[in-house]
Amino acid sequence: MIYKTDYHIHSWFSDGKAPPEEYIPSAVSAGISEIGFAEHLTLFRGMLEWSMDAPDVEPYMRHIKALREKEKGIKIKTGLEIDYFPGKEGEILSCISGTDLDFAIGSVHYLGDNPVDLAPGYYEGKDINHIFELYFGQVIEAAASGLFDIIAHCDLVRIYGYKPSSDPEPLYRKLARSFKKYDVAFEVNTNGRNRPIGDFYPDGRFLPIFREEGVPVCVNSDAHMPSRVGQYFDEAYDLVRKAGYTEMAVFDKRQRFMVPFD
Ligand SMILES: [Zn+2]
Ligand SMILES: [Zn+2]
Repeated sequence: MIYKTDYHIHSWFSDGKAPPEEYIPSAVSAGISEIGFAEHLTLFRGMLEWSMDAPDVEPYMRHIKALREKEKGIKIKTGLEIDYFPGKEGEILSCISGTDLDFAIGSVHYLGDNPVDLAPGYYEGKDINHIFELYFGQVIEAAASGLFDIIAHCDLVRIYGYKPSSDPEPLYRKLARSFKKYDVAFEVNTNGRNRPIGDFYPDGRFLPIFREEGVPVCVNSDAHMPSRVGQYFDEAYDLVRKAGYTEMAVFDKRQRFMVPFD
């Protein structure tokens, strides 16, 4: 049996629909061995309703710690999904250093001032090749920042189905090489199936590239409600195996361990 983890869960500490407690029974029934909360931490963009702010981090971490002490049937990990903004590495670091995180997920939702995943209008009339290049470039900067253990939904710009006119494979190759170089894992994010694209992130055609380049992988649901914990995991693990992976990345206190399948 595969040792399954789900390290990308949003509770109502950010934009999830339920308290952390309510995700535990879903994780157990989905056969998950480790559940990790990863609330949004989006700094530098004012008060956002979907994100925690810096002062919320400590009470959140205390809450998850108490939950871990109460729930012995499953391993509970504490993480954050942190928006990466170029040039803000120092501020992000000072916000998370000294905390008891098990893992930090780095995300790119914004290009400049605009989120790429809020509405399709962002893409209308724009050069999609250029947007893909910008997005992948910023994800590489996030990996290079050394702030993160896992990079989230690395091709989120696919969300509304806009496609570059040329084959994006070289972009994925460059991305995978940078993940290896900067020693970060990536996730197969199954929540893309619930979004307009109706597909996992990243594009499954390119998973073998990540394997060839030796990038560690996690499978995450990015669940915002308990019923979606571990959603589509059988399919996702199947894809990961078919891409040639034989082990998964597991995190504890920001150390990575590799756990073989079976
Ligand atoms: Zn995200
Ligand atoms: Zn998320």
